[in-house]
Amino acid sequence: MKIKRFADLCASGQVRDKRVFIRADLNVPLDEAGNITEDTRVRASVPAIRMALDAGAAVMVTSHLGRPTEGELKPEDSLAPVAKRLSELLGREVPLVAQWVDGVTVSPGDVVLLENCRVNKGEKKNDEALAKKIAALCDIFVHDAFGTAHRAEATTHGAARFAPVTCAGPLLAAEIDALTRALAEPKRPLVAIVAGSKVSTKLTILESLAKNVDQLVVGGGIANTFMLAAGLPVGKSLVEADLVPQAKAVIDAMAARGAEVPIPVDVVVAREFKADALATVKDAKDVAAEDMILDIGPQTAQMLADKLKVAGTIVWNGPVGVFEFDAFSKGTETIARAIAASDAFSIAGGGDTLAAIAKFGIERDIGYISTGGGAFLEVLEGKTLPAIEVLMQRAEG
Ligand code: ADP
Ligand code: MG
Repeated sequence: MKIKRFADLCASGQVRDKRVFIRADLNVPLDEAGNITEDTRVRASVPAIRMALDAGAAVMVTSHLGRPTEGELKPEDSLAPVAKRLSELLGREVPLVAQWVDGVTVSPGDVVLLENCRVNKGEKKNDEALAKKIAALCDIFVHDAFGTAHRAEATTHGAARFAPVTCAGPLLAAEIDALTRALAEPKRPLVAIVAGSKVSTKLTILESLAKNVDQLVVGGGIANTFMLAAGLPVGKSLVEADLVPQAKAVIDAMAARGAEVPIPVDVVVAREFKADALATVKDAKDVAAEDMILDIGPQTAQMLADKLKVAGTIVWNGPVGVFEFDAFSKGTETIARAIAASDAFSIAGGGDTLAAIAKFGIERDIGYISTGGGAFLEVLEGKTLPAIEVLMQRAEG
């Protein structure tokens, strides 16, 4: 994929004394007292900022935070906690600028954080006048917010169109490279795992992946829907019965390519959705009317682990069971450990998938962990993200 990279501009000395505007993703979770509860996104944004400072730029950084009302900056929408954390990580003061659309004062070698960009009127609608004002603040626009790359807004798309130079920051470039390696030029066999609870929203992902992958591993509520499609009983499990025709179409599309969707042969069931519910392993065909399937069974987990062992590339979204409850976490743990042990290039994304990776402590053994939830899923759906599209367009001209 042809895009301009900020690292290349820095390396060739084109950034010295330039005004650099970085659209980062600093949308972190805050507790009621306004403390950051998880700072991964702040830490992930540091390399681009350091790169710009080291190259001698005057640096402006912004991000959205939460869902503010446009036109009013309420205290709970302020990036103040982020400015504080960023100051700690960079080891220098990062001033926070409230009103910035009409001009920002910053000198080469300095960095300022510009308040929550979603407070600006017209941000969400990608207003052209706003985008042009933002673009006029800088010489170089750096897009480094993969988490919002699927949204066309003034700071993620419009400003990238109108800025004198537009390029990808190191985080966005790494995401693009990992996704290209996994989906556009995969070492085969390519195995995708699509699981979790959002059955209907993930169906388009399955339809798109069915055209590309060699094995489509389903788990969670999605597996239950496929079990129903295969004529198996699912009792009171999380399932979307009206999606059975689509599940059948995915199975047929895969079969037509000589690929497959492995259906669970055993499952772990319970009578209640509770951490201490009695967990029973059952043959898939023996699920009773009052049972809830909360995990794949040990035989199924082993069968899937064997397929992962010989994979060339693995794409993972969604835990295959209710991994939050220990009794129903074994399937997800077996899959996670198989991915970690595999020689395949692996990429994982999704909020709960990342939580599962953290629970089993295998972060270092995954090829690439995506920082984008919704953006990652849209790439799996085969969509070209607006922010990436504009980067490709700007690389042409
Ligand atoms: P991600 O955030 O990684 O995209 P999802 O949000 O789609 O994943 O799904 C994660 C949730 O799915 C987890 O909270 C997990 O407990 C739940 N889940 C997995 N398997 C089942 C199941 N068989 N029944 C009910 N919930 C499940
Ligand atoms: Mg989730």
